[in-house]
Amino acid sequence: MINNHLTRSILAVLCTLILPNLANAQSQQPKTKGNPFAAAPQMSPAQQENFPLQLLDELAAIKTAALGDDYAYHQLAHLTENIGPRPTGSLQAKAAVDYVAAELRKIGLDVQLEEVKVPHWVRGAETAELVEYPGQAEGTSQKIVLTALGGSTATPAEGLIADVVAVNNFDELKALGRDQVAGKIVLFNELFDKQKSAAGLAFMAYGESVPYRGSGPKTAADLGAVAALVRSVGDADFRLPHTGWSSPAGIPAGAVTAEDAQLIADLSAQGRVRMHLTLTPQKLPDVTSYNVIGDLKGSEHPEQVVVVSGHLDSWDLGTGAIDDGAGVVVAMQAAEVLQKLHLRPKRTLRVIAWMDEETGGSGNQAYTKDHSSEFSNHVAAIESDAGAAHPLGFDLKMTATAAGLLQPVVGVLESFGATVLQAIPYSPGADISAMSEAGVPALGLLQDGRTYFHYHHTAADTLDKVVPGELRENAAAMAVMGYALASMKSPLPR
Ligand SMILES: [Zn+2]
Repeated sequence: MINNHLTRSILAVLCTLILPNLANAQSQQPKTKGNPFAAAPQMSPAQQENFPLQLLDELAAIKTAALGDDYAYHQLAHLTENIGPRPTGSLQAKAAVDYVAAELRKIGLDVQLEEVKVPHWVRGAETAELVEYPGQAEGTSQKIVLTALGGSTATPAEGLIADVVAVNNFDELKALGRDQVAGKIVLFNELFDKQKSAAGLAFMAYGESVPYRGSGPKTAADLGAVAALVRSVGDADFRLPHTGWSSPAGIPAGAVTAEDAQLIADLSAQGRVRMHLTLTPQKLPDVTSYNVIGDLKGSEHPEQVVVVSGHLDSWDLGTGAIDDGAGVVVAMQAAEVLQKLHLRPKRTLRVIAWMDEETGGSGNQAYTKDHSSEFSNHVAAIESDAGAAHPLGFDLKMTATAAGLLQPVVGVLESFGATVLQAIPYSPGADISAMSEAGVPALGLLQDGRTYFHYHHTAADTLDKVVPGELRENAAAMAVMGYALASMKSPLPR
């Protein structure tokens, strides 16, 4: 996920506002034995009306079936290991579209491919070394580990050599001014806040650092820099560079590992540092790609739609297991489990594997263009785009009344702890943001994010980082919530 992380950061302070009406309702309920703080499942009249016992029984059966089903994991293994990285415009992204469409047809969904024009940027050579620095042993240089940021332009094939100027933040760069920046390579050495990340505020830490990746190169270019580098965004200490989208700057732009960023900053505090930098990515013509849409038609209100989704494109360094193959496959399993149990929702459950979340959101834009006239009949949208780790519950962007109705649903998920209903003031998924802005109640799976930025957008985003049992929990949460939204008596109020 990309841009929504920025808004997450700004507003994450507000995220601890667990729906106050729910907290009050729970405090008035009798305590269960065992955990003295647990609330007994006691439903309001509106909850009872929307979730009759038969529906609650069905939700429990869906949960049990999903927790015993490795469909999502097998699909993820195919997407990541057999197909591989799925950057927009790539042959692998095309293969993934065809594969997911075929698999959704196999489980009996009505499948459409909806056209999306996507950027096609391909990585080239990426090397760097320090060729001059204080204390340098004669005849040596130091290798710098880095990767190009998405959309970066190229250096000459033989690279460029320039002085490096290291800054900690935008203010320091602006204070230097054009005189001290023009003709140089700028390094933004903004630290990722590991303590926030370890404490469960990983997306807030990401949001604080990622503006340097997003707009640092453009800011440096505007002051005449010949290239820009950022300290990798993330908290892994394994000398792994972290790629991602960056605003087009017209100069080569890369991310150095945290370790190498510190090295350069330390040496440049001592004196002159010169770097030989070679980045040779290419921007190729846009490519026609697709959102994959699979409908399980509703039995009573087929025109009313509940979206369950993740994004199929990934970055190219790893194989996109946690970002976001996992989101796609848990959405697929939500439909697969219903088919296996022969449960037909009242409203249409629509699985969407979004294209191009990572490099501009063209899939989301194309869907909005084609379907915005139907958004009044999109009764809810769920996206999973925050990894595959143990789910804690859901982020919600909807009215408090709507959110309050969902308590019985997470009651079904209580056996594995996915009970959090957390109100947030922005869309919980980038691909469903247009729907959310149009008033569609929006949900995001809320995973334990403490390790997410060890791997996100790096070469280490691979299948082995996904724990099968945790992926099953995510699939169960998606399936139960999706079916509940599609089968509760009335659509969620807006
Ligand atoms: Zn993502």
